[in-house]
Amino acid sequence: MAPKRIVLKFGTGILTRKDAPEPDPVQLRKLIEAVALLKRAGHAVIVVSSGAVASGLKPLDFKQRPSDVTTLQALAAVGQTHLMHTYESLLRDHGLHVAQLLVTHEDFENADRAPRVKAVLDRLMEFSQVVPIINENDSVAVEELRYGDNDKLSSRVARFWGADVLILLTSAPGLLRDTKKPEDGPIPVVENVDDVIHHAEEEKTTLGTGGMISKLRAVQDAVRGGVQCIIASGRHTEQIPSLIEGQGICTRFPASRS
Ligand code: GLU
Repeated sequence: MAPKRIVLKFGTGILTRKDAPEPDPVQLRKLIEAVALLKRAGHAVIVVSSGAVASGLKPLDFKQRPSDVTTLQALAAVGQTHLMHTYESLLRDHGLHVAQLLVTHEDFENADRAPRVKAVLDRLMEFSQVVPIINENDSVAVEELRYGDNDKLSSRVARFWGADVLILLTSAPGLLRDTKKPEDGPIPVVENVDDVIHHAEEEKTTLGTGGMISKLRAVQDAVRGGVQCIIASGRHTEQIPSLIEGQGICTRFPASRS
């Protein structure tokens, strides 16, 4: 198949296990194996990864995630280095190198900075052995720390880079047909994201689907910007390469313009 430009988004929820708040090295290894497979198939891949805060918990002796934003920023400052160290060593096992980019939403809006971000991304992508891993620069920006867990950032990166596909990995297998009956599985294709956002918002108060709403808003922006989106389970990393080929269990959102 023709090489594609792919943005993969790893949220904190899929980097960690339910029983431990810090990132799970086994899960990270599986995710990076999927990245390596995509690279080997010739695709260009950018990862948007959270997990900085979660990676700072253990070094700073926190048993659980605190709520005050300045402490979250401090945890992210410590945790980001741990996280990148793990990614660096996992990618090295596949002959790949990590490039760390810490950005804020303003970096994509500012007339001086945005072209620089674009230029360095384009330059990095000329090196096939490099995988850029992007996170919000939590020491200077708190948007994704407060809400979103990088959903919005991943959508922004995908549009900015001109990605073909944005894959948002989450704990659900996609956008469920019926949140009360998860065994019914996800809706395979959503043509009109506005309708499902409305539906998810109605369910939010009773079912706590706030995480999915943030993803759907990110999808809404991405598909309007010409990027096909996929919401799929981050626990089934083995299916990530087949998602690109149009297979696998997920919800697909076709781009509204090509
Ligand atoms: N940038 C944050 C991180 O990497 C976002 C996710 C969060 O709020 O935990 O941890």
